Amino acid sequence: MKRKPPVQVGQVIEVEIHGQGHNGSGVGRYNGFTIFISLVVPGEKVLAKVSLVKKNYAQADLLEVIEAHENRMEPRCPIYQECGGCQSQHLSYPEQLRLKEQQVRDQFERIGGFHDLAIHPILGMEEPWIYRNKAQVPFGQNPQGEIVAGFYANQSHEIIDLESCYIQHPDNDAVIRFVKQLVRELSIPVYHEKTHTGILRHLMVRIGVHTNEIMVVLVTNGKKLPHKEILVSKIREAFPQCQSIVQNVNDRSTNVILGKENILLWGRDVIYDTIGDVKFAISPHSFFQVNPVQTEVLYDQARKFAALTGEETVVDAYCGIGTIAMYVADQAKQVYGVEIVPEAIADAKENAKRNQMSHVHFEVGAAEKVMPKWLNRGIRPEVVIVDPPRKGCDSELLDAVVGMKPERVVYVSCNPATLARDAKYLAELGYETVEVQPVDMFPQTGHVECVAWMKRG
Ligand code: SAH
Repeated sequence: MKRKPPVQVGQVIEVEIHGQGHNGSGVGRYNGFTIFISLVVPGEKVLAKVSLVKKNYAQADLLEVIEAHENRMEPRCPIYQECGGCQSQHLSYPEQLRLKEQQVRDQFERIGGFHDLAIHPILGMEEPWIYRNKAQVPFGQNPQGEIVAGFYANQSHEIIDLESCYIQHPDNDAVIRFVKQLVRELSIPVYHEKTHTGILRHLMVRIGVHTNEIMVVLVTNGKKLPHKEILVSKIREAFPQCQSIVQNVNDRSTNVILGKENILLWGRDVIYDTIGDVKFAISPHSFFQVNPVQTEVLYDQARKFAALTGEETVVDAYCGIGTIAMYVADQAKQVYGVEIVPEAIADAKENAKRNQMSHVHFEVGAAEKVMPKWLNRGIRPEVVIVDPPRKGCDSELLDAVVGMKPERVVYVSCNPATLARDAKYLAELGYETVEVQPVDMFPQTGHVECVAWMKRG
């Protein structure tokens, strides 16, 4: 007979943390039962309150640290514990890096079955704060009826008001504070998630850190946006570096932030930024790496692993606005990029034209559908680069990659668990992983980024 979980919701338990869970959480045991707790460090003894019980595990919230790890630190941010944004501020930066590297090793061993892989020391930041170039904050009302904008409290939809964020570019914070004040003064109705009423849902701000251009996106529940002329003129006056103000319409009951329709309120529909020597147009819907300093570190690694000589055909799958494709293009004969978001491909095409790269081609579609088509058309790349979202590559896509018989696969990953899974699958098809380079793209958070490369056997 299956054993009943030895804990129940609300129970306060003492737990020794022995390992890492995903996304910066710790794992411990209580009477042999697995407990996940956030904001703890392996080696610590803590008091925690059970918040969720499942068949095989439970989650608990930290109440008190009884025995602290020597690298535990006072978090810099005063609302660290309430805000879901960061998960590692209670750790010194070197310890964060050590744990991330360990996580990569563990996943490759546990999920991939790899034992003596060349996993290099993680590349961290010199200054692991104020690195983000993009902010998106929900608007709402607090129980006192005041307009707030900030972050959803950890695992909930209660909005915590936020004036500044320690990992955010200060200009983005300044725009958010300014727009919030304007919204209060102009009494613009904010969105209520439960009743699906009100107007202003989110504010997204993106800065091109090398061009100093700012894009402001006001996400609204429907096309109506009162006082838009005042909003536009005040934002322009306060932030002359703002080059683009967009209204995005999202009238669906959904957690997805952006709706389909953009209405240009002022300026250009894109802002520009550079990575290395290449200049990119970025529109509201396009993915663009959020840590500009580490993006170059990451892309340099991808370029190194691609080992191009100028003679190769390269495929960049999950290419976004074509950043990696164009970053390696000066060392390739032909580059083909594929991406599922049409706006991103429109940006990518414009970017290739602006950078006079007529040998770089882009196609919109699901990589797992487009790649087999390319294979049928006889496209035979020497190098395939993939950079999928957290869920990793589709097996259909990996089959198509292998069918193209490239010499190398360069795999950029934001999730070591799916990277290890896909590396195992590729190994079964004759592509052994040679090197893995973790890069810290998201200091203070539990996210881990890696670049790996696989060689045809
Ligand atoms: N390489 C780019 C983007 C990486 S993020 C960069 O470094 O900036 C992953 C990208 O994959 C996103 O742009 C997302 O829209 C895209 N994507 C997600 N699923 C996809 C699929 N099935 N086929 C193609 N692209 C996909």
